[in-house]
Amino acid sequence: MSRISGAARLAGVVGDPIAHSLSPRLMRFWIEALDLDALYAPYAVSATGFAPFVEGLACSHVAGLNVTLPHKESALALADTASDAAKRIGAANLLTFDAGKIHADNTDGIGFLAALKPASIKYRQSTALILGAGGASRALVHALLTSGISRLILANRSRSRAERLVDEIAPMAAVIDWDRKDDVLAEADLVINATSLGLKGVDPLKLDWKRAKPGTVAFDSVYTPLETEFLKGARACGLTGIDGLDMLIGQARPSFRAFFGREAPILPPVRPALIESLGDEA
Ligand code: NAP
Repeated sequence: MSRISGAARLAGVVGDPIAHSLSPRLMRFWIEALDLDALYAPYAVSATGFAPFVEGLACSHVAGLNVTLPHKESALALADTASDAAKRIGAANLLTFDAGKIHADNTDGIGFLAALKPASIKYRQSTALILGAGGASRALVHALLTSGISRLILANRSRSRAERLVDEIAPMAAVIDWDRKDDVLAEADLVINATSLGLKGVDPLKLDWKRAKPGTVAFDSVYTPLETEFLKGARACGLTGIDGLDMLIGQARPSFRAFFGREAPILPPVRPALIESLGDEA
């Protein structure tokens, strides 16, 4: 068990609901691995309570908060300063506090790029097909643009939301109708599920993977379950499939550094502990 003194570094995650969040398990694993005098707690806070809760903590010695649904946009709105990533994405998942001032950042894109690292994607020569146009999609699109992606194709069930995303942050991207996603599979080096399809209890996302070219990488932002129909289909056709758990771990590393002033350790690996926590959900 980690030790907690009166001088412990404090941080947490705020959302509504929060009971399902893996972040407390993730952060505690690293706190214990480094034997830090630190605590990371989950907070269920309603939309009306969010601003007073955050503003109050910002005036305390708490180092900061991770933010999850439904507060990511409100978190950016109440911050005094924000990173370029948070501003462009339009949402924050990390708030840090300094003498009552609140700084907002968004690390989802960092987590996504960390998850893709083993696939050694040559972004400047690659086409990405992104399915979805919600908050996760905005973070992933921003990350791909900063990595120099050569071409982006975006499909979303409601086309107008994809068009808004493109207008606001990715004018070089092409929008296609949701029904046409299989027709462009052969053009994609990277295919991304940034929808909620495939989440436990939600319909699966099925693609005609036989139409994809060899070497295509499939990334699923979903991690409950770890092996979705989307990934199963891609792997069955000999393609590389990457699940969303490494994105979750990757987005937490900059937060850990910001809260506790230390790099989250690579070893022992946290992934097996998270899979154990997921239990039947995995
Ligand atoms: P969101 O803002 O609510 O967006 C949901 C997206 O899913 C929208 O594009 C929506 O399309 C689409 N969608 C929902 N139901 C659909 C259906 N029946 N058919 C087709 N499309 C459908 O949610 P989000 O925050 O972007 O999250 C998206 C996914 O990313 C979730 O699975 C979430 O778990 C995952 N995520 C993972 C991480 C990680 O660390 N791995 C981090 C953040 C999010 P419409 O616009 O047409 O409604």
